[in-house]
Amino acid sequence: MKRSLPHVVRQAQIKARKEPELKKYIIDQMRRLTSFSNPDELIRWLYEEVDRLIATDRDLKNSTCHKGCHFCCYHPISLSPKEMNYLNRTKPDYSEARLKIQYDHFNHGAPINYEQRACIYLDKIKGECSVYKNRPLICRLTHVVTEPVNCHYENDTTPIEHLPLTEAALLIGAFYMIYPEVEIIPTLIKEDPVSN
Ligand code: SF4
Repeated sequence: MKRSLPHVVRQAQIKARKEPELKKYIIDQMRRLTSFSNPDELIRWLYEEVDRLIATDRDLKNSTCHKGCHFCCYHPISLSPKEMNYLNRTKPDYSEARLKIQYDHFNHGAPINYEQRACIYLDKIKGECSVYKNRPLICRLTHVVTEPVNCHYENDTTPIEHLPLTEAALLIGAFYMIYPEVEIIPTLIKEDPVSN
């Protein structure tokens, strides 16, 4: 199933249509991305570069995200198969129980409750990502300026405003232009957990 690009990426691409400097930036980044022959080196560089761009973004000071907050980890996370392969090669631990439930929900429409929606890599006891160093692009890019509780999955009446993080978003957009396949974690894990 084809997933759409993250909202922040789409917004950055719309902005770039009117700004020649940003258009050139996208083309330069696409050149850089296609210069890698090793997919793991590509992902490693991409993660480092996205982190660097976010850390030096002048708007980052407005982020209301903080350590220990993990409301966004209850939303389906989209990622590229290249990212999934990179992550799988690190042999990370994950919640098999949540994977089975989420796979069945997203592929067969089975019911799911809020707690079962938690990302399979979320350590609920510590309240932190267990694959933080190797977490997907979308997890790195997500920063909000609104109250963190607005990101609660069941809180759909209060708005969420994301930080634009334009350069990082355009780099991620350039990656998706070259490698457009995007899926959610439960359906990208190779084995069908339901049939195991
Ligand atoms: S990979 Fe980590 S940061 Fe991303 S949703 Fe899962 S637990 Fe949260």
